Amino acid sequence: MTAACSSSSEPVLVLGGGLMGLAIAHQLARKGIAVTVLSRRRSEAAGFVAAGMLAPHAEGLSGPLLQLGQLSLGRVPSWVAQIEADSGLPCGLRSTGIVVPFRSDKERDLYPTAAFGEPLDREQLEQELPGLAPEWSAGLLFSQDGQIDNRRQLMRALESACVDRGVQFQEGVEVQELLQNHGQLKGVRTRDLEGTLSTLSCSQAMLCSGAWSAQLLPELQVFPVKGQMLSLQTPRGALRRVIFGPGTYFVPREDGLVVVGATSERNAGFNEGLTPQGQTTLQQGIAALLPEAINWPPMERWWGFRPCTPDEGPLLGESPIAGLWLACGHHRNGVLMAGATAELIADLASGSAPRKDLAALLPSFRWDRWRSEP
Ligand SMILES: Cc1cc2nc3c(=O)[nH]c(=O)nc-3n(C[C@H](O)[C@H](O)[C@H](O)COP(=O)(O)OP(=O)(O)OC[C@H]3O[C@@H](n4cnc5c(N)ncnc54)[C@H](O)[C@@H]3O)c2cc1C
Repeated sequence: MTAACSSSSEPVLVLGGGLMGLAIAHQLARKGIAVTVLSRRRSEAAGFVAAGMLAPHAEGLSGPLLQLGQLSLGRVPSWVAQIEADSGLPCGLRSTGIVVPFRSDKERDLYPTAAFGEPLDREQLEQELPGLAPEWSAGLLFSQDGQIDNRRQLMRALESACVDRGVQFQEGVEVQELLQNHGQLKGVRTRDLEGTLSTLSCSQAMLCSGAWSAQLLPELQVFPVKGQMLSLQTPRGALRRVIFGPGTYFVPREDGLVVVGATSERNAGFNEGLTPQGQTTLQQGIAALLPEAINWPPMERWWGFRPCTPDEGPLLGESPIAGLWLACGHHRNGVLMAGATAELIADLASGSAPRKDLAALLPSFRWDRWRSEP
């Protein structure tokens, strides 16, 4: 069992300054714990890439992943209120609801989360999503799902909230090795942009290195799934709801920008950059869902790496090294799950009892859960 961190002078190290790293650093700092975030490259974080859908129901999640998603969705308003209060910045939370279109009533009724949505016929679909291509004859409206502007607002607000709460940042610092003694974390070896190697001692650290987590701890089954995205400028008021189609979604921001995503490339490894095939896939997806959107002017194109695991659920809690806590592998629902993850991991690491609903899910998200399968 891992010892809990305290407010002693040796800071807790957060390994990775992406979404999980910032969210956990913020919660730890709110508990009065000294925290230093070690961040290799701010801009590569999936937290700056994601579409920001808060969509446990529209994603059709099931089992413990659905439960974690629902618990996190319920915590989003209070989590965002904390960040906004600490930073003085808006996070861009919007309760737009999300519509999932289907080609038949049967397909709709078989959707894993159908019981949580309002069924729509074609006429109702057209009212919710004017311009939707004619082959979509049925839909589910999940009005409890929503979105947050992670890319332009949430990440900035989190950074600012962390600084306001006294979190220290080392940007451009790569953690190269975890140091341990008889299974207890002792420190990390780092390299900065000038090439200087350092050793930082610590007895508590949070592994928040996203898709790269297995590079630090090869026992972890985390791998990258690349996603390419783009944004379009819409005519005023063109889209009210998020559209979550198979393979393609549209997420309308308040200022008329629509985020369109995303490819899901399991064989791309860590190859950076846009590809003609990825962009063609996005264009085809746009045409299949909302043909008029093909004429909306593109604004920006970008890509990133989802931290995926074999069952697409995160790795949470204890690790094979005492003192090293895991918060990685959230795949395509990390924005949704960041609030609950940060609460849970900060409670565990600080020795507070996590709330029962989250604690009950911990066995489902152990790092070694695949080992116990026959
Ligand atoms: C295309 C796309 C669309 C998505 N859409 C959604 C969505 O709509 N809704 C949703 O809920 N989720 C979405 N996600 C998922 C979400 O973005 C991720 O699950 C989440 O950002 C993961 O957070 P993280 O902190 O684990 O990883 P990241 O945010 O990727 O952060 C990891 C950080 O660790 C740093 N790092 C790595 N290795 C080291 C090291 N050795 N030393 C120091 N630093 C290191 C990296 O530089 C990086 O900054 C999407 C993701 C992608 C790629």
